[in-house]
This record gives sequence, structure tokens and C-alpha cells, in this order.
Amino acid sequence: MQLHDPLTSHFRLDLTQKKALSKLNIQSVRDVLFYFPIRYTDISALKNIGELTEGDTVTVYGKLSGLKTRKAFKSKIPMAEGIIEDLSGKIKIIWFNQAYMAKMAHDGQMVKLSGKVTLGKNGLYLANPEVEKTGEMPIDSHESLFSDGSGSETTPAFPVYRETKGITSRWLFHHVQKIMRSGILETMPDYLPKEVLDKYHLPKLATALIWMHAPKNAKDAEAARKRFAFEEVFFIQLKRHQERAEYEKNKSYAVTTDTSDMNNFVERFPFALTKAQQDATKAILADMARTYPMARLLEGDVGSGKTAVAAVAAYAAIKNRPTGQNFGSLQVAYMAPTEILATQHFENFIKYFKHTGINVGLITGSGCRKFPTKVASAQEPWTNISRAQLSKWIENGEIPIVIGTHALIQKSVKFKHLALVIIDEQHRFGALQRAKLAKKEGFAPHFLSMTATPIPRTLALTIYGDLDLTLLDEMPAGRKQVITEIIPINKRKDAYEEIKKEMAQGRQLYVICPRINEPDPDKEMAVIAKSVTEEAKRLKKEVFPDKEIAVLHSKMTKQKKEEVMEEFYSGAIDILVATSVVEVGVNVPNATMIIIEGAERFGLAQLHQLRGRVLRSSHQAYCYLFAEAKSQKTIDRLKALKNAKNGFELSEMDLALRGAGELAGTKQWGITDLGMEAIKNIKMVEAARTEATALIARDPQLSKTPLLASALIAKNLEGLHFE
Ligand code: ADP
Ligand code: MG
Repeated sequence: MQLHDPLTSHFRLDLTQKKALSKLNIQSVRDVLFYFPIRYTDISALKNIGELTEGDTVTVYGKLSGLKTRKAFKSKIPMAEGIIEDLSGKIKIIWFNQAYMAKMAHDGQMVKLSGKVTLGKNGLYLANPEVEKTGEMPIDSHESLFSDGSGSETTPAFPVYRETKGITSRWLFHHVQKIMRSGILETMPDYLPKEVLDKYHLPKLATALIWMHAPKNAKDAEAARKRFAFEEVFFIQLKRHQERAEYEKNKSYAVTTDTSDMNNFVERFPFALTKAQQDATKAILADMARTYPMARLLEGDVGSGKTAVAAVAAYAAIKNRPTGQNFGSLQVAYMAPTEILATQHFENFIKYFKHTGINVGLITGSGCRKFPTKVASAQEPWTNISRAQLSKWIENGEIPIVIGTHALIQKSVKFKHLALVIIDEQHRFGALQRAKLAKKEGFAPHFLSMTATPIPRTLALTIYGDLDLTLLDEMPAGRKQVITEIIPINKRKDAYEEIKKEMAQGRQLYVICPRINEPDPDKEMAVIAKSVTEEAKRLKKEVFPDKEIAVLHSKMTKQKKEEVMEEFYSGAIDILVATSVVEVGVNVPNATMIIIEGAERFGLAQLHQLRGRVLRSSHQAYCYLFAEAKSQKTIDRLKALKNAKNGFELSEMDLALRGAGELAGTKQWGITDLGMEAIKNIKMVEAARTEATALIARDPQLSKTPLLASALIAKNLEGLHFE
């Protein structure tokens, strides 16, 4: 048996099984070995056969023998009988009326039996027990079943695998055992460096696989899980650091900064930078001063002032001339996820750069603008220009700062001296895309990524392992906290009354619903989630008859969405009923209240971002979490939202509160449930990061550890993108 043999070359599989296995992503022998149990049954519930007493209903584990059928002495009822034994003793089994049971199993088979201990003429027997064939236990492992049973260290555990129609946990167990018995483990060298294993007391590969699939005790199982969790994070780190090393081979424009000029620029801001902003700025300027590209991630809650930091970085870059040139300036591209946001950045940048006379361009699908302009009007300091014209100016280097959507640098726009790329909320703009940028230009741009999506530090260090991380963990002084309330169903009326009072002061309201108007996809939920369209009608009819109410959701055309936003911004609309599309890109200072319907359906990070929408005002802001679920866990999660100091703290709480199965790492971040166990463990993540950094620094191609290098390639972490 070879590791990469297809399963079908060793096992007979019917069509359903084949389909099921491919659904589980299991094709090869190796795949089965790396299909890990999701949990272990609690074996401490198993009884030793020698200790059974009459009347108990028990589960025992042991070896069958003496199976036969006969007719009961008087009644002539057909029955089957046999013996089950473990190291502590044996007991008779009788299946009345089920003579066929003797043929369902065979002598020597290992089984789990559940039944009632009954006293008969000749002593105790198990009456009509349920049978579960467990397959043969690996050598030694069943002996430990009979160890003293005190303490978890010696509690043996049976693996339970995630099943799918056609493939049971037992099937998997059985086949894993067969594969392991074939001696294949001995042919599998460990790809993790021995020093790393030793340093962190991790079991080597073969041992870890045995402990994963057939642990003698809970401690071994845990050690195995730890190894594979570490391994997952370690591999991601290796890949990211490798990509980083590769990217840093590129040459970049070294941006020099005139400190007093820079101070003058910042002093014109209508506020003083927070300490966090100052630190971030320093780190960025230091990065950009080097001749190889910066790769930095700036993480900060909505409103923490990332745009201001971006402006400083942009200013520093464009104050530099292209290499060997005594005219013109380096260029900056600033990209946002939506047109609305790009336009907002454009307007903000005009404020920051107004006095400098520096050209700023805006490119979006619906049009292009340029600032400043000779034909300036009072309302609009910019002019609309054609895309062709703007592109031409960008191409010959005349426009230093260009703002647009993410398509900006991927599409036809060419820069002459692109020195800095700033990207807002684009988790998918990974190393590959950056590498492409580097190829396109002679110089690779410095790269500053910004995100308001608060994720735990451990997760950030892992998935953004190729980036240096700076947190803006401080809000500008004087910013009010959003007052957050969890509103149970019976308190809604009161909440609406409070909201009406605020609205009478001229404030506006967001109402967020979990869906638009199609059927609720999450039918398991006891309550049907509110839909935007129905809720808007209901609010108009029952709660706010005298208010202007509009809807906003992703199925609307771009133009319609913008119209609605425009009207909400101007105050023509009082209440905006929306899906979570308002999460990014809306900034209406007068909207100080937000109701979130079905709050329990949203992740904490998302709730936090939704709440951030009402943070833009000098008026007190309110967030009402309308929750329908009553479970304590739900309430605890929502309470975390009330209590967390900032998004990062919240994301840490979220991580701690959620069980491994709920982390949805694979979907969101490309990390398995097992890997997420590592993410919960800061020490493990730091260890993986430390080792990966050191290894790649010594040997970027991993040529001294070829097994590790090929294992890394096999993981196929290439092009791993994050939503
Ligand atoms: P982010 O992009 O992180 O959401 P912005 O840079 O857009 O944040 O800043 C949000 C608001 O706070 C803007 O109106 C900005 O002018 C203001 N702001 C930024 N930094 C500060 C500061 N240090 N002190 C006061 N206000 C600030
Ligand atoms: Mg921003």
C-alpha cells in the first residue's frame, strides 16, 4: 500500500461510498489518514465486565466468543448466545428470539455491547444487547481500556468521524485501522523538523496519526491534535513568509521624508493625531524609507482614523521625485471596496490636500473626477473628466494620487511611478496580486492594507503572516460610545418610543434585517428572520406612519442604491431599512440610531461593524439589538458586544465564546476546525510564527528541509484568498 494510492485500489467501494468519499474530499490512502476524528466518545462510560452487577444497563467493550444458536429449553424459542470478555472478566450474552445475532458477528470480533445485566440460573448474563462492531483495536490499545479509569489521563477514547450519507464513522474507523495496520506509517517520514517537534514537545508524525485515530487516552489524543493544529498554522506561516521573502526581493522607491514639511502637513488637520496614529505613521514611514517594499496591515475600528494615516503616508510618498528625475512625483493608488467609499475617500483627501495644490484623481465605474480644477464651483472643488483623459495623465505621471475601487490597478490604468498602494478592506488582495503589481511596474510599490474587520490577533498573525501588523487600538478623544441595548421581544414597544423621541430631535434611523425578501434559508431557526421589504411595510403601517421609510439591499441596481443613500444623507428619508450592505461604505452623521433585527444571526464582528455606522456623529448614538433567541449563550455573545472596549477585544471574546464547530474558519479564513483550535491558543500561534520566520530567514526555499518543502507544496496554500 502506497500513501498516494487511490482508495479504490485497496478497498471495494460501491457507488454511494465513492460519492460519499469524494464529498468528504477523500480520494487516496493518505486522505483517509488525514481525515481526523471530530471528537472521541466518552469511554469512561464503559464498564469493566468483571465489575458488572445485576440490574445495570451497561455498555461494555470486548471480544466475542462461543457464538451459537439454540432453542430455549422449554419454550423452544430460538435464541443466540455467546460470551464477551475483556481483561477483567467475561459474561454470557443471550439474544432471545434473535437467533440470527449469532451470524451477525464472529468469534474473536471486537464489539461494543449495550444491554441489561440480568441474573439467570447459571449466573449473570447480558440480555438482548445492542451490538456495535468496532473493528479490531490496534495492538495494545484495548488493554488500556481496563486501566484504573481514574483521571482523564488514562481514560481511553474512541474516535468519532464526521459522517456523510454512505460513509459512517465506523466505516472510517475500520479503514483507518486497516491502513495503519498495513505498516504504511513506517514509510511516512516526518516532514516537520525534529528540532521544532522537540522544542514544543509535539509527537512525531506516525505517533501523532496513531494517537489521533486510536488514542490510548485523552492525553495522547490531545497531543496529536496539538501537533496537527500547530502544523496547520505553521504551514500557513511558512507560505506567507516565503511569499514575503519573495516580494521583498523587489526594488522599491525609497521614500525620504522631510520632517518639518511633514509636521506642517499634519498640523493642518483639524485634530491632533492619536498616539496610535502617530505610531502607525512612524512605522509606515520607516518601512517606506527602505529600498524594498513595505507590506503592512493597519487594523483599526471604524472611525479610528485610518484614512488620516493613509493621507500622511500618501503625502510622504508624493513629496519624492522619481529616481533620477528632478521633476514630477511618485504616485499613490488608494483603493476601496465600493464606489461610495472611494468617493468618500476622494472627498476626504481633498480636505487633507486642498492647500497643497496636489492633483487627486477619482476613477470609478460611473465616472472620473479630478481635483483641483480651473473651473471650480463653490459646491464642487473637482471636475468630471473622461476616463481616457485621466488615464493618460496617470500614465504620464501627472496625477500623483489616484483613488478608485479595487479594480483600479488591475484594469487598464497604468501608472508611471507607482510607489505606494493603499488598499481598504481587501482581504483577497494577497501576495499573488502584489507579485503581479511588482511585475507590472519596474519598481514594486510599497503596500499598505487597511481593515476595520476586527479579527483576533492570533488569526491576523496567521492569515496575514506576510504582513507587519499595526493596530489602531485607540479612538480619537471625545468620541462617544454607542449605547448598546439588548431588547427582548416584550421590550420592543419601549425601544420604539425612545427612538421616536430621538427622531423628533431630527435624528435618523437604520433598521438592519437579516434578509431581503426571499424565503429564509435558515429554516432551522425557530423564528423566521425579518425581511427588509416586509419590515419596511410593517414599520410604516404600525410604528412610524409619519416617517419617510426606504429600503436598501444588494439586489437593487447600483444607481437605485446610490439614489437612496443620497436621500438618506440629505435627510429626505428618515428610516433606512437595509440588509447588512450598509456595513461598509455609508457615512451619515445624522443617523444616530440602529436597530438590528435578528441580532443573534449575525457574527459579533459584523454586529460591531454595523454598529460602527452610527459612530460618526457628535450626538449620542444608540444601537438596539433585537434578539429573538433566548439561549444563554446567545445572550452572552450579545452582552460581549455591550462590554467590549473595541473591535479587537470583541473578536477575542468571540473566539473564546464560540465552540470549535462554530468557528467557521474554513469558510471564512481557509482554516480547518482543528487549525482554529490553534488560533485560540496565542502561544501556539506565536511558536508557529517564530519557527516559520526563523526557518524562512535561514532558507527561503526550504532547500535544506526538502520534506518540509514538498509537504508545503502539497498543502497547496497558493492563491489562498480570504473573504
Ligand atoms: P477610519 O477610516 O478608520 O474609519 P477615518 O480616518 O475616516 O477613520 O476617521 C473618522 C473620522 O474621525 C473622520 O471624520 C476624521 O476626520 C476623524 N478623525 C481622524 N483622526 C482623528 C483624530 N486623531 N482626532 C479626532 N478626529 C479624528
Ligand atoms: Mg475608512
